Amino acid sequence: MSRIHLLSPRLANQIAAGEVVERPASVAKELLENSLDSGARRIDVEVEQGGIKLLKVRDDGSGIAADDLPLALARHATSKIRELEDLEAVLSMGFRGEALASISSVSRLTLTSRTADADQAWQVETEGRDMEPRVQPAAHPVGTSVEVRDLFFNTPARRKFLRAEKTEFDHLQEVIKRLALARFDVGFHLRHNGKTVLSLHEAGDEISRARRVASVCGPAFLEQALPIEIERGGLRLWGWVGLPTFSRSQADLQYFYVNGRMVRDKLVAHAVRQAYRDVLFNGRHPTFVLFLEIDPATVDVNVHPTKHEVRFRDSRMVHDFLYGTLHRALADVRPEDQVAAPA
Ligand code: ADP
Ligand code: MG
Repeated sequence: MSRIHLLSPRLANQIAAGEVVERPASVAKELLENSLDSGARRIDVEVEQGGIKLLKVRDDGSGIAADDLPLALARHATSKIRELEDLEAVLSMGFRGEALASISSVSRLTLTSRTADADQAWQVETEGRDMEPRVQPAAHPVGTSVEVRDLFFNTPARRKFLRAEKTEFDHLQEVIKRLALARFDVGFHLRHNGKTVLSLHEAGDEISRARRVASVCGPAFLEQALPIEIERGGLRLWGWVGLPTFSRSQADLQYFYVNGRMVRDKLVAHAVRQAYRDVLFNGRHPTFVLFLEIDPATVDVNVHPTKHEVRFRDSRMVHDFLYGTLHRALADVRPEDQVAAPA
């Protein structure tokens, strides 16, 4: 047996990266969530070769103070929580202080940032190496840019799992769409290989919100969806549920948010499936964009590193509320002819 030794920070970060950094889309998710947490109103994403060669996220948020820049790349370093109690009611998208450390350990990362009270911007660079990041002056308006180049350049085993450029880009675009539905008050712009692919302007009123839903879900969705807005027992559910006639062969138009965080939750999926049970053919999947607002102290979002899962304190109550609300919403479209076999 060899002796026990501590892993180098770089290797520790690369191992941890396995949990959150699977592909360019997961990098995009972490960077965009950071931008949203910083109070950005506009986020620009620039991508080359599906995000494998380059993924750049630029925001107009709070920025990071020069002294904090090296810390931003360190593991377990966060400005979002301080004590365990803070986790109980966390509203920011991030809080684990791991994303930038993980991403920078498997890519060539440059972080440029400027706060409102600084007279200039500062930049740190890493190359997946164990070095003290260098902080140097740079030009940048108030806000932050993170540039991630050559993802997995130093971890060939991970690189092998990347798919074709188009597949990676599709995943990445889906991440942006999910976040764009979570935050109508923020503009999202995406360029791929020099071409504008998505341009979602800040959507303040109801009309522009609907326009954004149409851009993300396709114009047919809203024409064939029922609006929902219910508040009961401290729970609020709003959004749109697709009519059974607008069901899909894949579960690819299903957006469910808990307090602004998109989740893929078994309990939620079950409640929705039950509500649609008698109006959908076997093998068809409902479509929906739904937002659940609930006391943050009654949900645990720290279940999984990517935070796709949540745990409700009173899961029965949440389930019944969702099922009841959706079942009632679909009541009008529940005549016999919906369940009859097609001619
Ligand atoms: P977390 O988001 O869990 O705190 P990250 O590794 O994603 O951890 O980011 C570390 C810290 O860097 C954040 O807590 C935040 O203070 C700062 N940060 C990262 N990205 C941005 C950004 N776009 N704007 C402002 N601050 C940022
Ligand atoms: Mg983060």
